[in-house]
Amino acid sequence: MAILVTGGAGYIGSHVVQLLIEGGHEVVVFDNLYAGHRAAIHKAATFVQGDLMQPDDIDALFAAHQFDGIMHFASHIQVGESMTRPFKYLRDNVAGLLNLLQAATAHDVKRFILSSTAALFDDPARVPISEDEQLNPGSVYGETKYMAERLLRWMDEIYGLKYCALRYFNACGAHPDGHIGEDHDPETHLIPLTLKVALGQRDQISVFGDDYDTPDGTCIRDYVHVMDLAQAHILALEAIRDGQSRRYNLGSGRGFSVLEVIETCRAVTGHAIPAVMAERRAGDLPRLVADSTRIKSELGWSPQYDDLEAIVRTAWQWHSQHPDGYAD
Ligand code: UDP
Repeated sequence: MAILVTGGAGYIGSHVVQLLIEGGHEVVVFDNLYAGHRAAIHKAATFVQGDLMQPDDIDALFAAHQFDGIMHFASHIQVGESMTRPFKYLRDNVAGLLNLLQAATAHDVKRFILSSTAALFDDPARVPISEDEQLNPGSVYGETKYMAERLLRWMDEIYGLKYCALRYFNACGAHPDGHIGEDHDPETHLIPLTLKVALGQRDQISVFGDDYDTPDGTCIRDYVHVMDLAQAHILALEAIRDGQSRRYNLGSGRGFSVLEVIETCRAVTGHAIPAVMAERRAGDLPRLVADSTRIKSELGWSPQYDDLEAIVRTAWQWHSQHPDGYAD
């Protein structure tokens, strides 16, 4: 298939592009390089630099290429920033998607995979969190993904655009061959920040709260490997050929505390990694773990990385070989 990947120069997008190309698909990466990296774009992909907020860029893209499907990663992703700069998120994430959908429906694209999030589930009634959980975004970022899922329902009903919304829990790790990985600026995520201490780029890691109602008092998260997430996109693209739209929660199904993650990073790197207790971070929930039974049973998704140490090892390989990320 000919697939448009918006945000294909970003962390998860670049790993998905790799699998699409290995699977024989033709890929066009559309990215404004605001957060993505040119060096992360697969050499066999066609790269179009452009912005979803610029209708001319989108018109030129669709005039030059025909697409069987779209995978949409391009968006701002920081929960905290979305609460201080809400209009940045609402404008770019929502209006950018609207521009894309308008072009997609005008050009009769029939398949759409949405990069969605666990940030849809604020204060869940049950953990592990299944697709039956009430959608209740706890941030403007989460709201933009909620709106995206809602918009897609109407696109399906009116234009027959079949979609799959994939709600990632904590994406982490890197391609096992070490050529692509995570490079955010600023970096806010636990695993890369902890590994930067092992690299000597930071003095210590702050633990945001140790008085939560969890066994060791620190927050529990579901760390899912980026290659497993990428595999889910390939399965979803195939699955919606049957004409049914879908929504899936993606995690490894196991939760690890902040302290367990830091301990694992120590074991993998052999570095002492000093940790200090700090204030709780606003908006953090004590426990976020996915129930991914549905995608496993419906699409046969079988994550290869169920072991935190193996996940961190791939991240460490990337960070230790590229201490300055793609700038290297
Ligand atoms: N965290 C932390 N110190 C840091 C960064 C993150 O203690 O420097 C904690 C954070 O409070 C959360 C967990 O690590 O409980 C995972 O945070 P991350 O930002 O990686 O992902 P999120 O769960 O927010 O999507």
